[in-house]
Amino acid sequence: MKLADTLEARGSFRLRTTPHQKIVVLDVAKEQVEPLVAELDTLGLSARPSVFRRGTIACTGIEFCKLAIVETKVTAATAVAELERRLADLADSGQLPQALSLHINGCPNSCARIQTADIGLKGMMLPTPDGDPTPGFQVHLGGGLASSNREEAGLGRTVRGLKVYVEDLPDYVERVVRKFVADRAEGQTFAEWAHSADEGDLQ
Ligand code: SF4
Repeated sequence: MKLADTLEARGSFRLRTTPHQKIVVLDVAKEQVEPLVAELDTLGLSARPSVFRRGTIACTGIEFCKLAIVETKVTAATAVAELERRLADLADSGQLPQALSLHINGCPNSCARIQTADIGLKGMMLPTPDGDPTPGFQVHLGGGLASSNREEAGLGRTVRGLKVYVEDLPDYVERVVRKFVADRAEGQTFAEWAHSADEGDLQ
């Protein structure tokens, strides 16, 4: 309701939802754009999001999907907030890539299309040292659709044994992104780096 009221007050009566779980607001007069951007920000809807907020999507997950194995929405929101905080140094110095997709699934059905994400996470139960299974993800790296910086679509790569517990997800993404930033060749995308990196660099 708040979103609808905010848009209508600025003269927009139409919006579109996208396959990337984002919103496109239509029919905004030029002079209304900046005031609307500021108001949407107060609703938690940033028109100029961080690379992680822009590139993260999550499937329905265990809250509403009877097929789910793990929770996804809170996990995704927590990871985005953590990564924005932890990787602020790379963002401020312009070292983060322009785009980086992080897709989170609650089970192997892949409603969040993990195979075509830079970092794709397939929900599953993982063993623990004490024997009780706990929620986590198998990691897929370097997938993507054809785009301006990728000639052909391709699936992400899996690495033997590369799985993370839900609570360790921000740690893992921070680690692999910092490794990419430190190791990449000039102009190399995350996906290109992920497909060429040694397995040890992706752990
Ligand atoms: S990927 Fe699995 S858990 Fe997520 S919405 Fe699809 S079926 Fe449900």
